[in-house]
Formats: sequence, structure tokens, C-alpha cells
Amino acid sequence: ATLKAVDLNELIEEMTALSGQRARYANVQIVTNLQSDLPGICASPSEIQQVLLNLINNALDAMSKDGGQLDLSSKAIDSTVHVVVKDTGHGIPQANLARIFDPFYTTKPVGKGTGLGLSICYGIVTKMGGDITVKSTVNKGTTFTVILPQEPRAG
Ligand code: ADP
Ligand code: MG
Repeated sequence: ATLKAVDLNELIEEMTALSGQRARYANVQIVTNLQSDLPGICASPSEIQQVLLNLINNALDAMSKDGGQLDLSSKAIDSTVHVVVKDTGHGIPQANLARIFDPFYTTKPVGKGTGLGLSICYGIVTKMGGDITVKSTVNKGTTFTVILPQEPRAG
């Protein structure tokens, strides 16, 4: 993949727009909270798009029954940039949390989920020197945080 300086906020806006129709159909309100002057990251834009879209689609799947709210935010913290994808969906039982990044782990019906989304996200992000963390409460919602190293700057 070709690496370049990536404007994360721009990619978040793009993926939000792409998901707008599905969100409206699912009665999901998307709220974005993007830090202005966010430091750049060095990445493959298509890989970051893939990570964002996987997380957004999982969130929409988790809210497809009752609707809800999807919060997308970006923030610089120390030498990293955090992208937070937070939903008000059905949540993940504590006992399953350790397995969600495993390839082929899915709780979705056959044909609806491959169980590859999060394992691909995890591979992309850790290869960049970043990390993905998750917090979830059953019947309340789930928060994924993608932590990416900032582009090294001169000076
Ligand atoms: P898939 O979406 O094909 O099932 P993923 O790797 O994307 O595969 O996700 C694995 C599993 O993790 C899902 O089947 C689901 O059980 C759980 N999961 C992931 N994201 C969420 C979320 N936002 N809310 C609830 N469960 C989730
Ligand atoms: Mg998925």
C-alpha cells in the first residue's frame, strides 16, 4: 500500500457521508466531533477507509433493530491520534470480547458476517504501529478507539 500524509478528518467525513443512507434507513443519528488542526498521520488512505467503514458498519449492524446514535470523533493525544467510534447498540458480552478480533469470529447469521472485519482492522492498525481498543456494555453500546501514530514532524 502507498503511504502518504493522510487527513483523518477528511476520511472520517467521507466514510460518514458514504454511510448516511444506511444510517437514515436504520434510524441512526450520526454525530461527528472532529478536532480541527488534527495532526497528520502517515498511512494508506484506502486502508484507513477500510478500517473506518468496518467499524461504522459493525456499529450500524448493532443498532439496526432499534436505531440509535453513532458518535465519531478525532483527537490528538500526545504523539498519537485517536479516532473513536461509539454506538448505542446491543453491546458485546464480556465473555466474547477476547475473541472479536479473531479471524472468522462472528455472531451474525450465515451470509451476514464473515468475521473478518475486525481482524483486518487490527492487522492494518498494528502494522502502522497503532492499536485498537474496545469497551462495551451489553444493551448500552460499544466504543472502539483506533490509536494511530502521528506523522513524524521535523523540528
Ligand atoms: P462480522 O461483522 O462479519 O461479524 P467483525 O470482525 O467485523 O465480523 O466483528 C466480529 C464480531 O464482533 C461481530 O460478529 C459482533 O459479534 C462483534 N462486534 C463487532 N463490532 C460490534 C459492535 N459495534 N457492537 C456489537 N458487537 C460488535
Ligand atoms: Mg464487521
